[in-house]
Amino acid sequence: MTNLLLSSRLESVFDRILASCIAVERPIDEVSLLAVSKTKPLEQLEQAYQAGARHFAENYAQEAVEKRQAWIHPGCTWHFIGPLQSNKTRGIAEQYDWVHSIERFKIAKRLNDQRPDGMPPLNVLIQVNISLDPAKSGVFPDEVYALAEQLLTLPKIKFRGLMTITAFDLPEEDLKGQFLQLKTLQNTLMKDFPDCIELSMGMSADFELAIRCGATMVRVGSDIFGARTPATGATA
Ligand SMILES: *Cc1c(COP(=O)(O)O)cnc(C)c1O
Repeated sequence: MTNLLLSSRLESVFDRILASCIAVERPIDEVSLLAVSKTKPLEQLEQAYQAGARHFAENYAQEAVEKRQAWIHPGCTWHFIGPLQSNKTRGIAEQYDWVHSIERFKIAKRLNDQRPDGMPPLNVLIQVNISLDPAKSGVFPDEVYALAEQLLTLPKIKFRGLMTITAFDLPEEDLKGQFLQLKTLQNTLMKDFPDCIELSMGMSADFELAIRCGATMVRVGSDIFGARTPATGATA
């Protein structure tokens, strides 16, 4: 059964992505929509799938692994976007395609060591603290290069780009400044790390701006699934 509300919400997000790409003359296939399904039951992921979603993003390791294991449709891509503790890496290493939240070599090394033989390398993004806010996660921009170099030593990890979570209450000009800074950092890194082509930035409130600034992956939760309940809501 298709939930009309959810499918029309998803359709409208796809439309807004298309319009943003057209506005800056970017090909639509440069941008992936990640349906951020944390706290949402599998039935809603199924509805999103029926309406065209193929990328799913989860934040909490145990929930992430359980949903991935229960998922029956082939051809989907699974992204882990939340903070990752070292005792929770195994399921993600065994089940996921992407991890966006790499900020320590130690975690990347565990993911590498736990990645099963025969699977393709795990794609990772380095999470960047672009606002330089000590209360936020992510590595500072001037530490990204050193971490990227370390990642190259891990055969089952593939360094693919950068991710950031911006503050939700920034004026548009500041937000744009931060998105463009991340884009500039990615361009610089690409000279030495040719696979560093992905930019995961933009959420429900600001994904159109993020696309205009170069995002290749937008992480959209509430605009697709509706608001999360406060008790289990975003920690981002
Ligand atoms: C929850 C979350 C999102 C989605 O946020 P919305 O505002 O609901 O679109 C995106 N990225 C991260 C890292 C999140 O935790």
